[in-house]
Amino acid sequence: MITARTLLAGVVGDPVRHSLSPVIHNAWIQAARLDGVYLALPATAESFPSLVRGLAAGAAQGVNVTIPFKQEAAALADVRSAAVERAGAANLLVFRDGQVRADNTDGAGLLAALGQAGFNPFSPVVVLGAGGAARGAVLALLDAGVPSIRLINRSLERARAIAAPHGRISALGWDEARQALDGVAAVINATSLGMTGQPALELDLDRAPATAVVMDMVYRPLETPLLRAAKARGNPVADGLSMLIAQARPSFEAMFGRPPPAEVDVRALCEQVLGSDR
Ligand code: NAP
Repeated sequence: MITARTLLAGVVGDPVRHSLSPVIHNAWIQAARLDGVYLALPATAESFPSLVRGLAAGAAQGVNVTIPFKQEAAALADVRSAAVERAGAANLLVFRDGQVRADNTDGAGLLAALGQAGFNPFSPVVVLGAGGAARGAVLALLDAGVPSIRLINRSLERARAIAAPHGRISALGWDEARQALDGVAAVINATSLGMTGQPALELDLDRAPATAVVMDMVYRPLETPLLRAAKARGNPVADGLSMLIAQARPSFEAMFGRPPPAEVDVRALCEQVLGSDR
């Protein structure tokens, strides 16, 4: 029941109607018997700052932020976590005492998803892409102690800009992707390639070790052609939904002041929604 005491949280983005975050958070809210609701909140470049400021003025607990507002979310915050300062991007804004506090739980989500698939950070990692998701991913991987990152992107200058401040990242073009797989602990797709409606991701995995974890941040479709190819050759895989759920856990705790209940199978609920999309 929605009451006068119902707590509000949500996810802000453009587009945002496809987001699975409301499915995840509302299932946790219900299982925890909280008087709360989590909504998808569409914004535009013009409306984003005023929407956030309005919500922060006592209307909401906080919001997650998705494409394309993660950098702007970091910029407009009053207080930034160390992860936000370094990544220059925030996927979580918590509202307390009229202040906007920015955090980034994407890196923790990525490492949790990789960990579930048996990733160990003792060998180089290939990251495909140099957008916001890749930027967060490389920082989390460096913090986890990977010896080096081979960052592959269509626009080489974007990859070089990410690599420049770090000694352990090399920027490469797609023509070098196949040989970059030699001896890696993981291959991570942080581009939108392979997503429904986007061009396919064409990468021959033949040079990747059989132990390399192959991860795709894309979760529509849940089993991307990259993950299908990896499974066919016996590699362990991690899908985009496992990362999405893992980044949502600390977000829920920050917004509602308690960890999400463990007993609810949010993955099954999301799979149901993804299945009904087809
Ligand atoms: P973004 O900032 O727009 O970056 C997009 C990346 O994809 C860039 O590296 C871009 O290369 C590359 N790309 C796009 N079209 C391409 C093409 N035709 N050929 C080659 N490369 C292409 O987006 P983002 O925020 O980083 O997100 C990237 C993906 O990660 C999205 O699919 C997003 O949904 C997913 N994601 C998932 C999670 C999760 O929890 N599962 C979290 C965050 C993001 P250029 O630099 O050359 O343009």
